[in-house]
Amino acid sequence: MNVLVINCGSSSLKFQLINAETEDVLAKGICERIGIDGSLTYQPAGGEKVKTSLDMPTHTEAIQFVIDALTNAETGVVKSLDEIGAVGHRMVHGGEKFANSVIITEEVKKAVEECNDLAPLHNPANLIGVNACQKLMPNTPMVGVFDTAFHQTMPEKAFLYGLPYRYYEDYKVRRYGFHGTSHSFVSKRAAELIGKPYDQAKTIVCHLGNGSSVCAVMNGKSVDTSMGLTPLEGLTMGTRSGDIDPAIFEFIAKKENLDIDGIMEVLNKESGVYGISKGLSSDFRDLCDAADEGNKYAENALDVFSYRVAKYIGAYTAAMNGVDCIAFTAGIGENDHIVRAKVCSYLGYLGIEFDKELNDSVRGKEVTLSLPGSKVTVMIIPTNEELAIARETLALVK
Ligand code: ADP
Repeated sequence: MNVLVINCGSSSLKFQLINAETEDVLAKGICERIGIDGSLTYQPAGGEKVKTSLDMPTHTEAIQFVIDALTNAETGVVKSLDEIGAVGHRMVHGGEKFANSVIITEEVKKAVEECNDLAPLHNPANLIGVNACQKLMPNTPMVGVFDTAFHQTMPEKAFLYGLPYRYYEDYKVRRYGFHGTSHSFVSKRAAELIGKPYDQAKTIVCHLGNGSSVCAVMNGKSVDTSMGLTPLEGLTMGTRSGDIDPAIFEFIAKKENLDIDGIMEVLNKESGVYGISKGLSSDFRDLCDAADEGNKYAENALDVFSYRVAKYIGAYTAAMNGVDCIAFTAGIGENDHIVRAKVCSYLGYLGIEFDKELNDSVRGKEVTLSLPGSKVTVMIIPTNEELAIARETLALVK
């Protein structure tokens, strides 16, 4: 069965058409600047990537262009819509309502809408994507795969904040965690690679990308993760602050005469490694190049980032009373050998023996970075959220 995987943002829509049995990607692409002017970038497997400007006032037109491209007589990969068996939608916030992927029904859409205030930027956009697909493919089953679902196994001690309990009761203020699809995918693969049953393995997954989070996966379940009610908590990220003293809000608000919106803008968009590097870049390639040329702010940013990752690894090793495997994934985790080396430089106490030479020479592929005698296995495991969504979709639709 071919599954169309959709990741819908407020003005963009990423897609992949995947043969869910063979797990081959048949085509992929992205619609950008929806509602502004619009463009479609489309690439069939083995074919050329082509970007076309197209008028896309809404997501419905964007999906129509995607369908047209997929069924196009020359560059398409299927003959008609009948060859798309299901659509898998990436959904950001399922609150406490969704601990698993679901077939999307009217009740599901309502329940997702009720989580809108927990993810005001993402959930409404995800629903727009669902509605647009349903309009054009009314008879095709749709599945929702939630970023938060995998973390619903966290115990209360990990998800409760030190706040009045009624905030949890009244407003559901708690840790939810994100990147669940990736943490689940990578931790399963890690267990396979180290040859332990998933329900007996202790893995720490470091998903390091523009947004970054660490997750402790014990016996096949997420037991703790660094992102919280929102994706702002935890690691120092590209432009997000991660953990800070909450009293800084008031201190800076007074110094700079900022209201809550102003503070949130700073914490989400002007902080992280971008802020520490004095606005040099949030892209780790730029930071590594600059650090190499002696820019001390870039070096600081890389150090702060890596040290925070190492601290979380320490915390999660304690939470699980040990760790079998530490897996690096996503853009930085898979590609940035400098960050991986910095993080691993703190991990000698775990009995990790790290192959520095190998680390320096590999990127973007599945590889073991620890030496054979190492007490803990350190690996790069490329994530594949689209494939994970296609698998979930196939399993539910079958
Ligand atoms: P997201 O999916 O959250 O947008 P990604 O997982 O694609 O993010 O990660 C983006 C990050 O990965 C960027 O900071 C980028 O600099 C970093 N990255 C990608 N390729 C490399 C590379 N070759 N070396 C270092 N960093 C890289």
